[in-house]
Amino acid sequence: METTPIGSLRQHIGEQVKIQGWLQVLRDQKKMQFLVVRDRTGMVQVAFWRQSDPSLAEQISKLTTESALTITGKVVDNPIVKLGGLEIQLETLKVESLAQSPLPFEPFGDTLPSTDFRSDWRYLDLRRTESLLIFKVQTTLEMAMREFWVKNDFMEIHSPKIMGSASEGGAELFEMTYFDRKAYLAQSPQFYKQMAMAAGFEKVFEIGPVFRADPSFTARHMTEFTGIDMEISWIDSHDDVMRVLENLLQYTYQRVKEVHGDQIKEVFHKELIVPEVPFPRVTMAEAHEILKEVGYQLPPEKKGDLDPGGERALAKYIKDKYNHEFVYVIDWPITVRPFYHMRHEDNPHLTKSFDLIASGLEIVTGAQREHRYDVLLRQAKEKGVSQESIQFYLDFFKYGCPPHGGFGMGLSRLLMVMLDVPNIRECVFLFRGPNRLHP
Ligand code: ATP
Repeated sequence: METTPIGSLRQHIGEQVKIQGWLQVLRDQKKMQFLVVRDRTGMVQVAFWRQSDPSLAEQISKLTTESALTITGKVVDNPIVKLGGLEIQLETLKVESLAQSPLPFEPFGDTLPSTDFRSDWRYLDLRRTESLLIFKVQTTLEMAMREFWVKNDFMEIHSPKIMGSASEGGAELFEMTYFDRKAYLAQSPQFYKQMAMAAGFEKVFEIGPVFRADPSFTARHMTEFTGIDMEISWIDSHDDVMRVLENLLQYTYQRVKEVHGDQIKEVFHKELIVPEVPFPRVTMAEAHEILKEVGYQLPPEKKGDLDPGGERALAKYIKDKYNHEFVYVIDWPITVRPFYHMRHEDNPHLTKSFDLIASGLEIVTGAQREHRYDVLLRQAKEKGVSQESIQFYLDFFKYGCPPHGGFGMGLSRLLMVMLDVPNIRECVFLFRGPNRLHP
């Protein structure tokens, strides 16, 4: 017999079915036994009349919560059952795996232990309705993005994550042993997606792992995360990149809302708002004016930059003024941007770059890239980047490279803002941080 997903039992009233899932609650009463069984599509009450088979009743009495079960029985309409107004009359039970008792923590309890403790038992933590929904949304989100890109004639690339030189700048690089020499884990697909532009691919995207040896303990940083990257050719400025990005996000929000909007409301108490395009844009200089106006003081070392508090204050201002959850901060000073960002022709101190702030959190950095060999080399030298370490990259620009630009976005950060989840650790399958390499 095929397994019926619990969420679709209503279509099987009066039929014999097989369900497979976890025992969430056992109510072991004098005459009747009630098992609440959960799979990833929902929960159902299973009823058993003790007298009909005392030895089976005894077996049921011994069940522990979170045990994995296969149950067959008849689906009956029963309006008094709170859980969906139906129940299954149990006929057979197979205990696939009896859960040890007690559980390290109760995933469906009223209070949850700390994120760190739950990370030790992540597979139990992932059984929670909230966790499950996050990863259902993630699946739809990635699918929607791919759909958007394919519709718009993009090509997907998979760039290597093992690199031979410490190219993008030293600090956040993980070093590894590669046979008899050193190699490094890629901090982003930046150089390779630019190579795709030099190769004439014109429009590319990549969803893949990114490694950062960043020792910070924040609610938004990980040492390994999934990056969503895009690069396009023949652009006039960073604005062309921003337009594709806002359309991509609008499309993605729309799809996620269609598929999960109701459940997001129910579980996260959030009405998903599909953002209007174009998103508001402010220059970095204007952002600083706004922060001054609202009385937010940036620390002195953040001159020409933003800090997380500044991002939140700016987002609040934009929300109040334009009723928009997104804001582009454009034209960042060269001091806080990498050497490969193109500079404004009329103001060489500013880059043609942007960050996207969503509900007060930075989720994207993007720019037009410098594609002229001589200028790129000059900018690298100015920033103290050794030519030798990036010569392989500089070579991409020797034999005809179109003007191009793109962005990098953190998948888990996007999920955080989409679902109002305050900690990135809830939005990643398994967290990697300075102190966490297990499970
Ligand atoms: P931050 O200033 O928050 O440390 P960043 O400026 O170093 O981020 P970028 O190098 O611009 O980030 O990376 C592009 C995007 O990748 C970021 O906007 C963010 O969404 C995501 N990202 C960057 N670093 C991390 C990280 N350590 N953990 C999770 N996501 C990250």
